[in-house]
Amino acid sequence: MTSVRLRRETPVPTARHEGLGQVVVENVWKSYGQTLVLRGVSLTVDPGEVVGIIGPSGSGKSTLLRTINHLETVDRGSVTVDGTYIGYERKGGRLHELPERDVLKRRTEVGLVFQNFNLFPHLTALQNVTEAPVDLGRVAKTQARIEALQLLERVGLADHAGHYPRQLSGGEQQRVAIARALALHPKVLLFDEPTSALDPELVGEVEDVIRDLAHEGTTLIIVTHEIGFVREISDRIVFLDHGEVLEEGTPEQVLDHPRHHRAQEFIAKVR
Ligand code: ADP
Ligand code: MG
Repeated sequence: MTSVRLRRETPVPTARHEGLGQVVVENVWKSYGQTLVLRGVSLTVDPGEVVGIIGPSGSGKSTLLRTINHLETVDRGSVTVDGTYIGYERKGGRLHELPERDVLKRRTEVGLVFQNFNLFPHLTALQNVTEAPVDLGRVAKTQARIEALQLLERVGLADHAGHYPRQLSGGEQQRVAIARALALHPKVLLFDEPTSALDPELVGEVEDVIRDLAHEGTTLIIVTHEIGFVREISDRIVFLDHGEVLEEGTPEQVLDHPRHHRAQEFIAKVR
């Protein structure tokens, strides 16, 4: 298995985590048409905490992550990151949805890494990483390039900066996607099954990068079926089933001593 050594000698821009990155999900309900997907989910993630989310397919894991950065609206309840609503503002005791440009700005607080990488196919690895910070007017192009090269080096891909996604393996593409998410200095990083589209021998190189972020104290929320990995890096694990949090606790509590029979069945299957 390839292992990525992350270079520590270069100070690189990274997620902000000095006491930042608290996520509060409060009684969130969400339906698609007749399908009730989230049924009163509440979850608090403290700054620097690593929370693993596990649960059967269709239990609402992706939807929950998508509500956190307001890729989905909620029907009821609220989500804040360090006290800020990503997609809403409170006016007269009610939440009003913000205009798209404000949402885009606030959404940069929350990085999301997808199962299928979602890189821009027509851009090189370097351009994928510089695109958003330059587009949002965060930094000048030259500065963005310097930071992007540092980030690519950090995920072990300095010599692939000029490669297009089609010239990269799945593991390399996912590492570029992580570098791209970090380029906006998010307070929180969300991972939605970051290794499930990868060939087994490429899983380790992506997990190495995530592990390193976890050790640095970045606030992370990770949806994954890799039970060994989620046990190792999570401070807390949440088991979601039919849009409800059925278990929440330390990896040991949730994985070794689940109380709910649906959690017991699921864990027996995936371990
Ligand atoms: P998970 O990530 O745990 O597999 P999801 O959050 O993707 O679950 O989906 C939960 C449920 O919501 C599923 O039944 C899925 O079919 C449904 N769903 C998800 N996204 C949409 C959508 N955009 N439109 C309609 N139904 C959706
Ligand atoms: Mg999903």
